[in-house]
Amino acid sequence: MYINGEWVNAKSGETRDIINPYNQDVIACAAEGNEEDSRAAIQAARVAFDEGSFSTLPASERGEFVYRIGTLIRRDLQELAELETLDTGKTVEESRADMADIANVFLYFGGLADKNGGEVIESPIPNSESKVVREPVGVCGQITPWNYPLLQAAWKIAPALAAGNTIVMKPSEITPLTTVKVFKLIEEAGIPKGVANLVLGSGASVGAELSVNDDVDLISFTGGIETGKKVMQAASHNVKKIALELGGKNPNIVFADADFETAVDQALNAVFFHAGQVCSAGSRLLIEESIHDEFVEVLIERTKQIKLGNGFDENTQSGPMISAEHRAKVENYVEIGQKEGAKLAVGGKRPDDPELQNGFFYLPTIFTNCTNDMRIVQEEVFGPVLTVETFQTKEEAVKLANDTIYGLAGAVWTQDLNKAEFVAARLRMGTVWINDFHPYFAQAPWGGYKQSGIGRELGPEGIDEYTEVKHIYRNTQPKPVNWFK
Ligand code: NAD
Repeated sequence: MYINGEWVNAKSGETRDIINPYNQDVIACAAEGNEEDSRAAIQAARVAFDEGSFSTLPASERGEFVYRIGTLIRRDLQELAELETLDTGKTVEESRADMADIANVFLYFGGLADKNGGEVIESPIPNSESKVVREPVGVCGQITPWNYPLLQAAWKIAPALAAGNTIVMKPSEITPLTTVKVFKLIEEAGIPKGVANLVLGSGASVGAELSVNDDVDLISFTGGIETGKKVMQAASHNVKKIALELGGKNPNIVFADADFETAVDQALNAVFFHAGQVCSAGSRLLIEESIHDEFVEVLIERTKQIKLGNGFDENTQSGPMISAEHRAKVENYVEIGQKEGAKLAVGGKRPDDPELQNGFFYLPTIFTNCTNDMRIVQEEVFGPVLTVETFQTKEEAVKLANDTIYGLAGAVWTQDLNKAEFVAARLRMGTVWINDFHPYFAQAPWGGYKQSGIGRELGPEGIDEYTEVKHIYRNTQPKPVNWFK
């Protein structure tokens, strides 16, 4: 762990084995911190914020630090990508793409640091001047999940530091490796001690302490909806600012006039990328009834050909699930789907391949004959499981698409741009893709409507989250008002 500029073990001396989900090998031994370590890191961040110079540095200098971290990530991109693959099982190609995005996030927010200063406004009161400035919030707790370990951390670390906050980061306890490595790069970039702290350990101890502690001014959390609710409750203790990036149950709407081959190909990409362990996975296919049979037939054929395997093997198209517990959760949902009357069209079991028996693999799975009242359609499975429903009109497609508690992302496929815009305007989601699935980048905001979250990461909005807004008013000709004569 990295606390107050020092690399330290857990005060308790406890450690946790980190497991490769491809073969269950122990690949690392990480410090396992608890509330005490969490409090030490919070204290370091508090002192660095209240007494240190970082938050009052010229914004351009803070930006330079953040930008430098981005260049160091680019320098070590291959090493970071390999670590991420070891830790998560995703393919190296995918990890490399993640790392390139991550470097861009640091470069983007480094550049944005001195372009977020505030503005002079026209005061309606004579003989006065008014300006609105943005200031850092203070000590920020940051909690990330295991599916995109470093990507999610980057979305939080880069804007928080660019805005002049001090941070305590807690990565998922099962995938800490790339975050540890990036803290080495943060150290190399020369960030003053206490500004950026890293605590490893479980959510119930380290994460809960970050959420409740009175010295933390803001908590930014990415993870599951039930954990998000706990964080929100704990944060109410001292009315922390909160940012929540929670789950999704994202619709992929395909009209009959869509480019058939592209829509099939992208429907696979939407749901089976990273074994479906993606918050924005297109796990609900809504297909116009007239092309349902033909579309699903091709989709099933292509699904059968998806090659599961070792993320380091270049023929592998998809890796394992992250853990035995998570695979068990997915298996349970598949059982529920069958009991609910959905038709299991392909997959629905572990692969037979003897080479995959030590990993947490699960076959890409499609359920047809689904209806919106089913749990497998409503709840986030977070695995390689697609549900298929049909619609007849664009109004019906929108109604079905919006009919969940989530509102993270969705896509619409059609060659009729008016129809696409009709749907895009009505989807209650933070991101809508037209004739594409999954693109996101540092320049555009990311976040959820409804129960998919609160606030936005990335884009100018992503740095605004880490600022307080202050109005400074100056009377240029002060004199008595004689209100109380
Ligand atoms: P999770 O909620 O189990 O854990 C997320 C993090 O919270 C981990 O670091 C964990 O240790 C910590 N945590 C657990 N209990 C805690 C508590 N009581 N207090 C504070 N922290 C606690 O989620 P996960 O299984 O790691 O990740 C999968 C979930 O993340 C999915 O629901 C997925 O949709 C979501 N996710 C959302 C986005 C997004 O951008 N909206 C991105 C990635 C993942």
